[in-house]
Amino acid sequence: MTRLTSTLLACLLLLGACSQEQADQNTPSTDQVYPAKIIKLKLAHGWPKGYPIFGESVEHYKELVESMSDGRIQLTVDSTNKHKSAFGIFDFIKSGQYDIGQSASYYYGGKDPDALFFSSMPFSMTTQEQWAWFYEGGGLELANEVYAKHNMQVMLAGNTGMQMGGWFRKEINTVDDLKGLKMRIPGFGGKVIAGVGAVPTNIPTGELYQALERGTIDALEWVGPGLDLRMGFHKVAPYYYSGWHEPGTELMYFFNKDSMAKLPQWAKSILLNAAKLTSYNMTTSTFAANADNWQAISSQYPNVQVKQFPAEVMAALKESNSALIEQEKARSPIAKRIIESREEYLKKARMWTTIGEQLYLESVAN
Ligand code: CA
Repeated sequence: MTRLTSTLLACLLLLGACSQEQADQNTPSTDQVYPAKIIKLKLAHGWPKGYPIFGESVEHYKELVESMSDGRIQLTVDSTNKHKSAFGIFDFIKSGQYDIGQSASYYYGGKDPDALFFSSMPFSMTTQEQWAWFYEGGGLELANEVYAKHNMQVMLAGNTGMQMGGWFRKEINTVDDLKGLKMRIPGFGGKVIAGVGAVPTNIPTGELYQALERGTIDALEWVGPGLDLRMGFHKVAPYYYSGWHEPGTELMYFFNKDSMAKLPQWAKSILLNAAKLTSYNMTTSTFAANADNWQAISSQYPNVQVKQFPAEVMAALKESNSALIEQEKARSPIAKRIIESREEYLKKARMWTTIGEQLYLESVAN
């Protein structure tokens, strides 16, 4: 986003309508007119510096916050190159070592098992359905209830959209083909495939290609074409299966509650609303990258075949998922409340999706 666009946006969000001249770069800054202290905050995200889309969106967040606050809020952004802990964001923000973090909630199921429910769940909501749940169906309130126990509040940070089911070296035709299959698949999806006899593993990002090429693993899922292309998986595993386990994975901004409590209302408002806008922007850019990169893969690598799991395999995965969900409901009252909130919202939202987008796509397909 250019500085001018950001400034115009800031005008619209903060001041109501204002003319282009007012938004011109020659306009004196608020600090020149109303001298004030600078609010300095530290942000840590869970990606390497400059990592496409996920890391870049945090840089856009910084630009947006600084522009909207007319420079009165300044963010220092640290990537994993600096803090060396891709999965340390939860602890960094909880302890106050950093004021703000960006990562995915489901990486922190080990810190709080209820954190698993706020990224994506197998067979659950698409991006649009889940956004509606977060903003209109009580999802964000539930996430904040869970994170308040850890001295944090949260806001959405961007959605990957539909994630693909992964790259497979061999075709999957029966449930037996999954037995003993070694696959990189984290989170709840990993537990689900373990339930049908596969062996889920987690491998550091930088070693994934080699593991798949050498047959250390038989399959892996990453995200979708937008982020998969640069990893090169299509060169060693030609079967690209459609998604089921992460139908719309949301990243999250985490805010230390003590840091937020010290801020004036306008600063809190900018931090939260800039996060919300960043979430929208990241979601759009991921969709665009998926479209661009799938076009590139399908034209340059004709050996790549898109597959769907047979009905028998999908039924087995659903059964495994349902058993795990029942276990989770029995684990704690809040887990039960979150799962039931998701289930009830999905039921309602899907009724609309079915007669809206689904019928539209079916109607125009031929
Ligand atoms: Ca994934």
